[in-house]
Amino acid sequence: MRILVTGAAGFLGSHLSRHLLGKGHSVIGIDNFITGSVYNIQDLLKKPGFEFIKYDVTNYLSVPGKLDAVLHFASPASPIDYLKFPIPTLKVGALGTHKALGLAKEKKAIFMIASTSEVYGDPLINPQHEAYWGNVNPVGPRGVYDEAKRFAEALTMAYHRYHGMQVRLLRIFNTYGPNMRLEDGRAVPNFMTQALKGRPITVYGNGRQTRSLCYVSDLIDGIYRLLLSRENDPVNIGNPHEITLLELADSIKRLTRSRSRIVFKPLPEDDPKVRRPDITRARKLLKWQPKVGLEEGLKKTITYFKTRL
Ligand code: UDP
Repeated sequence: MRILVTGAAGFLGSHLSRHLLGKGHSVIGIDNFITGSVYNIQDLLKKPGFEFIKYDVTNYLSVPGKLDAVLHFASPASPIDYLKFPIPTLKVGALGTHKALGLAKEKKAIFMIASTSEVYGDPLINPQHEAYWGNVNPVGPRGVYDEAKRFAEALTMAYHRYHGMQVRLLRIFNTYGPNMRLEDGRAVPNFMTQALKGRPITVYGNGRQTRSLCYVSDLIDGIYRLLLSRENDPVNIGNPHEITLLELADSIKRLTRSRSRIVFKPLPEDDPKVRRPDITRARKLLKWQPKVGLEEGLKKTITYFKTRL
């Protein structure tokens, strides 16, 4: 297939592009580097199957030649990033999705939207299955991301229903692994950088809020299976192993043999108290489930962070 990936220089976009090239597809990567980095695609730029275009996908999008799939992965995705870039976040989820859908329609290509567990907001049920409508504050600070992704899902479904397009709605839960930015601001990169530098490990709130962390190779495998499936309805992809943030901080401290102290900082506004994917649909439809355990994944990620610090 000839596949266009928006956000190709981002954490997930770059891992996904590499995976697609490895499967023998050719990839056109697009990124405006607002949060992506050329570091992530250095190896890809040398590969014959990879073309790269520096571009903002909220503008009119046109690509010569055939396309079999358009995968829309461009967006700030870390809470500190979308607080810093609230309007670009709304624009890439809304206008960017519209442009990417238009291109996919023109090319008769499959369209995939990288949606998120944030569509469930601060969920009132745990775990979250795809039929849950969520609990989102539209005007809170996280609303810029959550509502952009909810709009992106609604627009994608409208193109599916009205134009009969093949679409893939992928709801990504917390993911970690090599190539996350050191200054990304999310829990795993923060805790690792702090632990390795001997600085205090900053746990927000009382640390009893939960997340369920998926190692990046598992996530990419799930995404690829979803792309090749015929499933047009939303599918959660994530690891259902749920832990508290305090447990995560302790594990990272232990695995890095760090002497850092754990300190408590205020909980950001609207920070979800629990999060865990129900992956029954992914298991059944895609024959997929994560394979990499938390300790194994954290060790691999620590090795990467050590090389970058
Ligand atoms: N968090 C934390 N310390 C940090 C960064 C994040 O305790 O230095 C908490 C954050 O408040 C949230 C959880 O870790 O409860 C996961 O946050 P992250 O930014 O990784 O992503 P989110 O799941 O909120 O999108």
